[in-house]
Amino acid sequence: MNPILFIVGARGAGKTTVGKRLANELSYTFIDTDHHIQQISNMTIADIVNQQGWQQFRQLETKALQQVSQSNRVISTGGGIILSAENRQYMRQNGTVIYLQASADILAERLMQQPESTQRPSLTGKSIVEEMEEVLTARENLYCECADHIINAQLSPERIIACVKEIILPRRIS
Ligand code: ADP
Ligand code: MG
Repeated sequence: MNPILFIVGARGAGKTTVGKRLANELSYTFIDTDHHIQQISNMTIADIVNQQGWQQFRQLETKALQQVSQSNRVISTGGGIILSAENRQYMRQNGTVIYLQASADILAERLMQQPESTQRPSLTGKSIVEEMEEVLTARENLYCECADHIINAQLSPERIIACVKEIILPRRIS
């Protein structure tokens, strides 16, 4: 069975950008867990969080992760997916986990350039740089613990894709 590729990392790390292109190059299907949650609940993530709270969202996320996990897929995960030990274990057992690692400065810079960021609920109510610093302080160890491979998210998408291919292609052949 071909591996499932899970891409983890904070908001702005490039999970969607890289994941889509990677899936295309590998002839895999691209799935985004946030997108899947929005489709099955017919609500935006912001509305789910505002109306039902983060805890409910996290429960939906765990279900979504397991629903979308099928072979020949590149799965771009929500930034907080690694907060759950169940999710971390699930991804490690069912696929190859790639962490796109970036500093708070880079993440904030990217999110500020992206109008879409305003649609995502703030985690802390602080500035984006402060928020990303806090988020990384809380999550960096979990990303690293969950990852099979850590890739510098500041590399170009082409370089990142080449790194991932190098990691997984030998496994596909054997
Ligand atoms: P995520 O899905 O992890 O939240 P996105 O793929 O939406 O991140 O990317 C966030 C922003 O950063 C987008 O504007 C995207 O164009 C840009 N971006 C993504 N990957 C890279 C990269 N490797 N180098 C430079 N910019 C990138
Ligand atoms: Mg994304």
